[in-house]
Amino acid sequence: MGVLDERPRRLGSGRNRCPYCGLMQDRVATLEHGWVLLEPDMRPLAHTVPAEHRWIELSDGRVTVYGVCPPDQFQRCRIEHCLACPQQALPDLWPWLTSLRAENARQAERLSDPEPPPLPPEEWPDAG
Ligand SMILES: [Zn+2]
Repeated sequence: MGVLDERPRRLGSGRNRCPYCGLMQDRVATLEHGWVLLEPDMRPLAHTVPAEHRWIELSDGRVTVYGVCPPDQFQRCRIEHCLACPQQALPDLWPWLTSLRAENARQAERLSDPEPPPLPPEEWPDAG
């Protein structure tokens, strides 16, 4: 709060190499906190990108997460290089799908569990 030295300056932005894959990425100041590393020359339509990963450019050159929901049909955005980087694990882009997959994994596990063999009649507790 009010620490001028920490305010990102546009002059400091530029391109640098991704330490993971060696490709270039754009280092861009954000409105909220410091810097973000964006995929260069890539502006997909915002609605094709998960909500928390849509960065839009402001008039001063900084970027911010595009919070309009639902997104404007024609709004373009930028994405972080880490989503496109071949050497980094993809983050959890669609959390509800990840939960669904986990739930389905549990269901599939139950399906593949061998059924307990039925008790022969003489061992039924009531067959006395
Ligand atoms: Zn990379």
